[in-house]
Amino acid sequence: MRQKIVAGNWKMNKTFLEAEELVAQVAEALEKRNLSNTAVVLCPPFPYLELATDIAKEAKFSVGAQNVYPDDSGAFTGEVSPPMLASMEVEYCIIGHSERRKYFTESHEFLARKLDALLRHKIIPVFCCGEVLPERVAKKHFKVVEKQLNESLFHLKKNDMAKVVIAYEPVWAIGTGMNATPEQAQEMHAFIRGLIEKKYSKKLAEEITILYGGSCNAKNAKELFVKPDVDGGLIGGASLKAEEFIAIVDSL
Ligand code: PEP
Repeated sequence: MRQKIVAGNWKMNKTFLEAEELVAQVAEALEKRNLSNTAVVLCPPFPYLELATDIAKEAKFSVGAQNVYPDDSGAFTGEVSPPMLASMEVEYCIIGHSERRKYFTESHEFLARKLDALLRHKIIPVFCCGEVLPERVAKKHFKVVEKQLNESLFHLKKNDMAKVVIAYEPVWAIGTGMNATPEQAQEMHAFIRGLIEKKYSKKLAEEITILYGGSCNAKNAKELFVKPDVDGGLIGGASLKAEEFIAIVDSL
């Protein structure tokens, strides 16, 4: 059965004490829940990863990073490597987020290197893809996503591809309050699954987890998650309040 996931991308938010409080609130709420086949993943900023992985040892969530550098070590001031994340028991790492593509001009090729580096260190990549609004308006969204997958993901061998989580995040929906409709999400998720089937196999296409991200919240999560090819969500703003994040988990 396909793994369902709700992952919270905190982005650059929270002080240490606020982070401590949010992790504790999420841990406490999850304690009372039966999460069979659902993984809850918290992706706080780097300085709070240890706090989160410490609590995660006794709790029902996993921890993800929001970024990684593709080399193992070296003179890359300010960067964090896959072995560092692995040594802190970080299990997931977001890559290809539109904010990193836009503000840090991360290329398809650079993302492919990150992906390979994470897999070498047994960290699950959460690979984000999605089109900007003019591309959707011009009906180029399928082509754009296909290119993102082709250039950063599809060099992987089948057994590595099976370890990847994909997050479809239309850029026009991120942080705008304008989520994709469930039909738009389903259409793109089915398209992505079709590409995976063509490149790898039907079995792999059916088994891979594809998350939706972009203004997903407690009000709209259920109608998105009920779609057959939507396996959960990558949640930004709505992951910053425990109650709302947990309501999204409960929608799965
Ligand atoms: C994100 O940044 O991955 C995201 C989905 O943000 P938001 O939920 O705030 O739109």
